[in-house]
Amino acid sequence: MSGIKVLQTAQEQLKQVSEKLGIDEGLCKVIALPKRQLRVNFPIIFDNGELEVFEGYRVQHNSCRGPTKGGIRFHPDVDMEETTALAMWMTWKCAVANIPYGGAKGSVKVDTKRFSKRELEKITRRFTNEISILIGEREDIPAPDVGTNAQVMSWIMDTASMQKGYTVPGIVTGKPIALGGSEGRVEATGRGVIVAAEEAAKEKNISLHGAKVVVQGFGNVGGVAAKLAQDHGATVVGVSDARGGVYNPKGLDIYDLYYKYAGRDGGIQNYKDAEKVTNSELLELDCDILIPAALSNQIDENNADRIKAKMIVEGANGPTTPSADRILNDKGVLIVPDILANSGGVVVSYFEWVQDLAHFFWEENEVNNKLSRIMKQSLAGVVHMMHEHKCDMRTAALMIAVHRVAEATKLRGIFP
Ligand code: NAD
Repeated sequence: MSGIKVLQTAQEQLKQVSEKLGIDEGLCKVIALPKRQLRVNFPIIFDNGELEVFEGYRVQHNSCRGPTKGGIRFHPDVDMEETTALAMWMTWKCAVANIPYGGAKGSVKVDTKRFSKRELEKITRRFTNEISILIGEREDIPAPDVGTNAQVMSWIMDTASMQKGYTVPGIVTGKPIALGGSEGRVEATGRGVIVAAEEAAKEKNISLHGAKVVVQGFGNVGGVAAKLAQDHGATVVGVSDARGGVYNPKGLDIYDLYYKYAGRDGGIQNYKDAEKVTNSELLELDCDILIPAALSNQIDENNADRIKAKMIVEGANGPTTPSADRILNDKGVLIVPDILANSGGVVVSYFEWVQDLAHFFWEENEVNNKLSRIMKQSLAGVVHMMHEHKCDMRTAALMIAVHRVAEATKLRGIFP
């Protein structure tokens, strides 16, 4: 989907939900538009002496509920419109979880595969410098996204600290523990997905213990979610990565797959006690709970009808297209939407920021327990809204989020 289409989808969603909530037109205009959009062009001289100019963006959607928060993406296809839509979705994600942030997003048009580590460091540091007029530990706090990681966050933190003359750990989250990162952050999104799955399953009279689960994507989110599903007594019958999947109706040994096959030569496809399946076959396997945790737009109008799962828990961002959503809702499939299901990552990012500001760090148990409590509270609120308005879970989650942002905007009033 082009950036413009992504933004149109985000704005259309907001329009529909605002109408349902009866939000007046003026207020609707305020929350529909990003508060700030910064476009930067910056030069880098590479190891071979050549110069290239890069384009990057930082968008702050809404800051009525607190500082803005959102990842930085390094990818050749990013644009201002997509970055704006992603910032808006971050506003809703933070509001559903009821953490005191608005949404933001940043991106640089760059194919990271073309550059050395030193060159990526230069790109990161120069981009940080360019957007330093917007970011700050009290203003706008970046995090990792597609193409960026804990190392990139360390460079951002260091660059901002050099500018200030003292260490500013709270300016980014997703940092290594050694630089003020949080225990439990790496596993947070997958852990949150499983808490959401377990709670939402009650709506379908399914117990995670004994449920048949399929997970698409075996990386940070999918790998952790699959392991925790197995820990909770689920039978994980299928998992996949970019190369394809494996299926055993009696269940796979996820720990074996995770520690002995994933990331090694041949990958999970080398696992013996299973049948090989393609990624599209995997999505259509017989199961109770399907967890797409890889890419967006995986379930669309072409395969939605063949999905057999009773529930879909969106670990990835945007794995289900709006048209697939309609088909699945008509079939009675319960979809736990991304802004709720994968919010564990931003919740523990919030914990990381709180710890950095307090210079006082928590043990992993404390992080996990607090995460679990927030996920359960968010889920309960969304389920309540879903029943009250007889709508699907995505609409209910958006209604809660938009209501919270609209209420905060109204209470603050319009300056001057
Ligand atoms: P990752 O890079 O660690 O893992 C991605 C996995 O998907 C890998 O196993 C990869 O092989 C697999 N994959 C790639 N292409 C595939 C394909 N065509 N079919 C099946 N599998 C494929 O990424 P991640 O951090 O686990 O993120 C996964 C998704 O979750 C993304 O949509 C991301 O935006 C979303 N998400 C991540 C976080 C987080 O904290 N990591 C938070 C919120 C949302």
